[in-house]
Amino acid sequence: MRSLFYTHFFFPIFVIMKNILVTGGAGFIGSHTAVELIAAGYGVIIVDNLSNADTTCLDGVSKITGIKIPFYKVDCCDKREMQKIFQENEIDGAIHFAAFKAVGESVQKPLMYYYNNISSFTTLLEVMVESGGGNVVFSSSATVYGQADVLPVTEETPRKTAISPYGNTKQICEDILQDAVRAHSGLQGVILRYFNPIGAHPSALIGELPRGIPNNLVPFITQTAAGIRRELQIFGNDYNTPDGTALRDYIDIVDLAAAHVLALKRMTDHKGAGKCEIFNVGTGVPVSVMELVLKFQEVNKVNLKYKITGRREGDVEAIWADTSLANKILGWKTSRPIEETLANAWAWEKKLRGIIS
Ligand code: UDP
Repeated sequence: MRSLFYTHFFFPIFVIMKNILVTGGAGFIGSHTAVELIAAGYGVIIVDNLSNADTTCLDGVSKITGIKIPFYKVDCCDKREMQKIFQENEIDGAIHFAAFKAVGESVQKPLMYYYNNISSFTTLLEVMVESGGGNVVFSSSATVYGQADVLPVTEETPRKTAISPYGNTKQICEDILQDAVRAHSGLQGVILRYFNPIGAHPSALIGELPRGIPNNLVPFITQTAAGIRRELQIFGNDYNTPDGTALRDYIDIVDLAAAHVLALKRMTDHKGAGKCEIFNVGTGVPVSVMELVLKFQEVNKVNLKYKITGRREGDVEAIWADTSLANKILGWKTSRPIEETLANAWAWEKKLRGIIS
C-alpha cells in the first residue's frame, strides 16, 4: 500500500510517498542509498539474496532512520518472487545494485557473472514493464571506460572493450537499459557510472563489509590498520603518474548515495518516458594510491604496514571523472573532503571490530 501522510490536522494535504525498490540494498552502496532515500521522503523496499552481504547494514539502516524497512531475501533472477514483491507493494521505481562485483572472480567464473548480473537486471525490467513501467537507476561503473585516451572522462568518452566479464556485464546492462527504455514507453532510466566509492556513514552504523579478503583498496587499508591483514600491497609504482602509483577518483559513499536520489528526481521531472541519461559520479580529483595511504595514516593517526609489489592484472593506470554533467543537470556535488571520508571509513572498521581508541 502507498503510504499517506497528513501534513496538517485540519486541512489534510495528502502526500503520496513514492516507493523505491532497492535491489542489493543490504550491500555497501545500497544501504547508504536507502538511508538517503528515506531522508528524502521516499519509501524503501529492499530485495537482496544476501550472497555478498548479511543483515548488519540492514540493521544499521533501521537504527539511522528509525524505520524498519520491508526486506525480501530474494534473488532478483527469480521472476516469480520478483512478481510477488511487485504485487505486494506499490512500486514507483527501482535502483538496481544487485550484482556480483569481483573482477578477478569474474575471470574465473564468467558464466556465473554473465548469468547473475544480466539475468537479475532483465528480470527486474521485465517485471517492471509487466506492472506498467517506472523509473530505473542502474549502478554502472567507470570500468566501462577502460584506460581512456583522454582524461578526465566525460559521459561522451567512448567505452573501451571490457577486459573482464564483470566489466562486460556493466556495459551489457547499460545497453539493455537503453534498449528497454526505447521500447517500453512506461520506462525511464538513469545510468550512474561510479568511480571509486569509499568511506562509511558518519554514524559508523553502516559501511563496507567485504566477504573474505578485500579486493578494494580502502577496506584492505582499514583491515590492515585493524590488524586483520598483515600488510597492504601497493600494486605497482612504475606507472606514468606523479608518484608512480595508479590514479583514481575516490568518491564518498554518502555523496554517491545522494546522486541516486537526484537521479530519481530527474526522472520524475522529465514527465515523459523514453529517456535514459548517463552521469559520471566522482569527485573530478585524481588521487594516487600512495597519496591515499599516506592521507589515511595522517588523518587517523595510525601506521600501516605496506610494501610495493607488481602491478595487478587488469588495472588501468589512471582514471578520473569530469563531473560537470551531474553538477549541472542533477544539481549534484560532492560535499565531503577525502580526509573526512577516510576518517569515517576507519571509524566504521573500528566499531565493527570493537577497537577502542
Ligand atoms: N590497490 C592496491 N592494493 C590493494 C587494492 C587495490 O594497491 O590491496 C590499488 C589498485 O591497484 C588500484 C587502486 O588501488 O590502483 C584502486 O583499486 P580498487 O580495487 O579499490 O578499485 P578499482 O579502481 O580497481 O576499481
